[in-house]
Amino acid sequence: MENKKEMKKWLDGFNLNHPLVIGGPCSAETEDQVLKIAHELKTTDVSIYRAGIWKPRTRPGMFEGVGAIGLKWLEKVKKETGLLIATEVANASHVKLALQHDIDVLWIGARSTVSPFIVQEIADALRDTNKIVLVKNPVNPDLSLWLGGIERLYSANIKNLGVIHRGFSTYEKTKYRNNPEWQLPIELQNRFPDLPLICDPSHIAGRRDILQDISQTALDLNFDGLMIETHINPDKAWSDAAQQITPKVLVKMMEDLKMRKVTNEEIDYKNSLNTLRTQIDVIDHGLLDTLGKRMKVAIEIGNLKKKKNVAVLQTKRWNEILGKMILDGEEKGLSEEFILRMFKAIHQESINHQKKVINS
Ligand code: PEP
Ligand code: MN
Repeated sequence: MENKKEMKKWLDGFNLNHPLVIGGPCSAETEDQVLKIAHELKTTDVSIYRAGIWKPRTRPGMFEGVGAIGLKWLEKVKKETGLLIATEVANASHVKLALQHDIDVLWIGARSTVSPFIVQEIADALRDTNKIVLVKNPVNPDLSLWLGGIERLYSANIKNLGVIHRGFSTYEKTKYRNNPEWQLPIELQNRFPDLPLICDPSHIAGRRDILQDISQTALDLNFDGLMIETHINPDKAWSDAAQQITPKVLVKMMEDLKMRKVTNEEIDYKNSLNTLRTQIDVIDHGLLDTLGKRMKVAIEIGNLKKKKNVAVLQTKRWNEILGKMILDGEEKGLSEEFILRMFKAIHQESINHQKKVINS
């Protein structure tokens, strides 16, 4: 898929002076809940109202959505508030029902994007549609799978497309519910600058207190929009309670976010610089993370060596590693001198840690 300018047209059509905001509850629960939230959101930056009707749950036995009846509530939202309406579709029958109820924006959830069969089924059911279709990243950090979803839709003559970054699941527990792995959306944006890119801080965070931070990073990386789960009574939500915020909190958050308007060359330059700097920050964070992990492994080796009473420094192995790193580094455009200096420093830090273990 080459870069296609027409993919961005729907977004330009909104004519916004701020990022596109999609707000609304994780799940439609009752007609009253859906309408109350919508009426509170209609006077905010929100242009598209989201609510899950069919909920993909990781484990059975949780709330699985109200089903097709919720589509009527969404239609009512559009009629009463003028907001566009959005919901997740996960198979051809969802698509059929959503189209019958004139849903404006359909998104493919993270658990569906992983399955080419499902995505193809949805693409076939939506063939030639003018509706806006957004593809969430797959649960695993696989850019091809994500792009594959877009390609399947594009090939079905669906041109109003966009992607939603909602983070990636990890075995390791982190502060995020789904790790952002910013380098993936960054790469996607570099390859397809005209594909609208929306961040879903709610599912990245899994909790309220870091939504603002994640949203700011997304805006600094030039994302086109935000999808934020909003509920009148977040703590009592039937799904994803910990990450939802009230419409009032959403308004405050939007006020506090530093928006970046692209209006002239000077701002353009600053924006590009800012985007690149944020990319560097993300990468540096990753470097530190990796180094921290490396030290933990070094300490484990130290423990083993202590048990076996083996010397800390093993020159033969170290020379082998260095030789390989120099070759690997060359391929990535890194000089031999730099590789030597960097690994010497890393190695020294490992030795210090191991010595501490052995002498303890
Ligand atoms: C959702 O948007 O409520 C949802 C289920 O998201 P995801 O597919 O990102 O898990
Ligand atoms: Mn949710």
